[in-house]
Amino acid sequence: MELYSPSTIRDIKERHNFQLSKSLGQNFITDRTVIDSIIEGACIGEDDLVIEIGPGIGVLTAAAAERAAKVVAVEIDRKLIPILKETLQEYDNIEIINADILKTDLNEIIRGQRDAGTFTGAVRIIGNLPYYITTPIIMKIFESGVTADSVTVMMQKEVADRIKAGPGSRTYGAISVAVQYYCDVEKVVSVPKEVFIPRPKVDSAVLHFTIREEKPAALKSEKIFFECIKAGFGKRRKTLLNSLTGVCGLEKEAISEILSEAGIDPSRRAETLNIQEFAGIANIIAMRVADNGRRNTHGDH
Ligand code: SAM
Repeated sequence: MELYSPSTIRDIKERHNFQLSKSLGQNFITDRTVIDSIIEGACIGEDDLVIEIGPGIGVLTAAAAERAAKVVAVEIDRKLIPILKETLQEYDNIEIINADILKTDLNEIIRGQRDAGTFTGAVRIIGNLPYYITTPIIMKIFESGVTADSVTVMMQKEVADRIKAGPGSRTYGAISVAVQYYCDVEKVVSVPKEVFIPRPKVDSAVLHFTIREEKPAALKSEKIFFECIKAGFGKRRKTLLNSLTGVCGLEKEAISEILSEAGIDPSRRAETLNIQEFAGIANIIAMRVADNGRRNTHGDH
């Protein structure tokens, strides 16, 4: 009996008196080809460390452990811990951590595993993400500067479309710019909703993110860059002149000067700007904020 088969899942639920939790986004994979696509897409080598987000009953965990030197899986639901101990008992290269991924320091896990000598290769993050926190998980991984080489995760198709979108597209938004700033994004496979238990309302897709060694734009301040993106897309129907007014406390007149200095038509909308154009605006704002700060410090208003 395979771990991913609906009858195994039923059996485990009965024996462990386990109820699938909707609020924890528990939609388990029941299809071998989807598991294989994620594992293949993750490019796991035999010396690698795999960190899995939300192992559930361990279908991806077991498949990853067949390929990797070590797998560390972070699962929030403590009721799944005894189940994972049972389903993964034949593997000696898996460690399960009962914790919230959003409160887990991934770099600490990586450091700990490296110090313990459990792997010498790359760090691969994988997972079939709980849908209710897909975006926070992805942004946490990238914003925290995690020292991983790649991230291969399944998410709702709509979120994957937004992440992959480019300027001018209806689905292009703050998450597209933010994620594409940190990494190269490739779609691995589309996954129909029928392969999950329970069946979610929407289809899914697997994306493979390769973390960039060199960013696509040199930034003077990441904080101001992200503030510009948030403000721009927060009021996406407004022109840049209007949507950026208020960023770093700057008034309309200052934003108008900044856009002109950046060579950006103030009547454009955020959805037409590429990463470099956002970076250009953010860098001029950063210089202006620094200048204003200096002038204020010296009492020269
Ligand atoms: N990997 C399994 C599979 O593909 O069949 C389960 C995937 S299921 C979509 C998401 C998993 O993430 C569940 O096991 C759920 O309990 C777990 N989870 C939900 N929120 C979490 C969090 N904040 N931190 C860690 N795990 C979480």
